[in-house]
Amino acid sequence: MKGKGRLEEVARFFRQREELGAGDLYMDGLTRDEALAFVADRTGNAVPVGRSATQASSPTEAEIAPSPTPDTLDLSALDYDALRQAAMGCQRCRLARDRSNVVFSDGNPTARLMVVGEAPGANEDRTGLPFVGQAGKLLDLMLASIDLSRRDSVYICNVLKCRPPGNRDPMQDEIESCSPYLKRQIELVAPEVILAVGTFSAKLLTGASKPLGRLRGEIYSYEGVPLIVTYHPAALLRNRGWTRPAWDDLQLLRQVLDNR
Ligand code: SF4
Repeated sequence: MKGKGRLEEVARFFRQREELGAGDLYMDGLTRDEALAFVADRTGNAVPVGRSATQASSPTEAEIAPSPTPDTLDLSALDYDALRQAAMGCQRCRLARDRSNVVFSDGNPTARLMVVGEAPGANEDRTGLPFVGQAGKLLDLMLASIDLSRRDSVYICNVLKCRPPGNRDPMQDEIESCSPYLKRQIELVAPEVILAVGTFSAKLLTGASKPLGRLRGEIYSYEGVPLIVTYHPAALLRNRGWTRPAWDDLQLLRQVLDNR
């Protein structure tokens, strides 16, 4: 089939699929991508691979990329929804380039406890949620051991909202670029207690530069909010010897929550 006849065949198939409510396209001897490229070539309208032709003229809300957020936007004046929206379009640091999702938060924004981790990993980048995968499961167990649940009684976020490539450590300039989001998140969520998990979170929120093993075991204050630090669950999965001190940190956290 050549020329006009083939184009009509493609158009007829699109119409049929649309009438049937199907989002995918299959034709004997013509792959989906070939068909889309064929139509794009003749109509001058590019159809991105991965979307059907019927969807092409009306992208879903999820497919519309958020507008880039101006780097100069004053985050300290934003309400919660506006802050989240600003993060979704943030280009303040190099991590915007390769992210799949901005990982803003999970849990309950009215919770008494705020857990602050370090940065999204591969699973978090894929799902858009902090602390998923094995480390996330361990965090959930740790919280459950002191009668807290991610869904109801905890708000969870990270210092960085976008994934450092290859799960490398956050760089100082990335932390500086992203920390205004965290600062405003803490102001808006207004937790009664903060738990910093992992070295970067602990150092940023305490302002101290000691290794985590020498930071933990004390109650700090972040802008007047009691702050406790402990090991990152991913580190606990690698170092069984830290289980006992992490348990002690959780008991301290429970004690501080109970005394508020
Ligand atoms: S890591 Fe933070 S500062 Fe960097 S692009 Fe993502 S949201 Fe913006």
